Amino acid sequence: MQDVVLELRQRGIRVGVVPTMGALHEGHLSLVRASRECCDRTIVTIFVNPTQFGPGEDFQKYPRTLESDLEAIRGCGADIAFVPSHEEMYPSGFSTYVEPPSVGARWEGECRPGHFRGVATVVLKLFQAIPAHVALFGRKDYQQCRVIQEMVRDLNVPVEVRVCPTVRESDGLAMSSRNRYLDPRDRQRALSLYRCLSTAMEAVAGGQRDGRLVVEAMHRTLRDGNVDRIDYAALVEPETLQPAGHLSRDVVAIVAAFVGTTRLIDNAAIHVPE
Ligand code: AMP
Repeated sequence: MQDVVLELRQRGIRVGVVPTMGALHEGHLSLVRASRECCDRTIVTIFVNPTQFGPGEDFQKYPRTLESDLEAIRGCGADIAFVPSHEEMYPSGFSTYVEPPSVGARWEGECRPGHFRGVATVVLKLFQAIPAHVALFGRKDYQQCRVIQEMVRDLNVPVEVRVCPTVRESDGLAMSSRNRYLDPRDRQRALSLYRCLSTAMEAVAGGQRDGRLVVEAMHRTLRDGNVDRIDYAALVEPETLQPAGHLSRDVVAIVAAFVGTTRLIDNAAIHVPE
């Protein structure tokens, strides 16, 4: 893989990489299209990375749909699929990990201990295997984007990270490989996450500047929507992911909750006028 990419680079060809865990949907494909706009060749990686799953999480049952994934990425014009085996990524004796940056400490970092260590490690490994010019990630995983941006800066990784908008179903639900776990009743309840973000946006648009009150309203919306467990719902500063108290500049609303046994996350940028 390295030889292929280095040869392309030598020929002056611009390379984009889209890392995924497969079970591809329109969200992933939007990253492929964005890569095709800014690069001459697009490589999609498909690897269900065990080190980013905690004990008791869904690594075993995570959807694996390689044949239709390959068809989908071919259909939208990607050039290469990189589908490494477990042994290629984690050879016997593997013991080196990336310590994730401090933006990964809270929220997902607290709810899923070790998650960002696994993400940072596998993404750095993919960047080594595929020394692309541009790497594209979805804003759907906002904290993950911040973790990768900080890692790339801190460790001098020579890649440009691009963050692309969240792709949603027509009713607002953020697309996710995990949505296919939802039965029709859960699918309805899953909308609560989007409603929770809308609640926050409407409160701020209506002039509310007390972050605590907005967060209370977000929790109320989730409870009214009968989610099974709220991991967090918060307003945070876009760079640091620290909770925002008094709202005097733009923030990001973030939410994670269980619907049945399915854990979903979502987020939205909220503009706070001066
Ligand atoms: P995953 O396969 O879930 O690890 O996701 C691979 C990439 O696709 C990550 O950069 C995700 O943020 C991105 N992604 C997942 N869902 C969406 C979505 N609904 N909209 C945009 N990007 C997404």
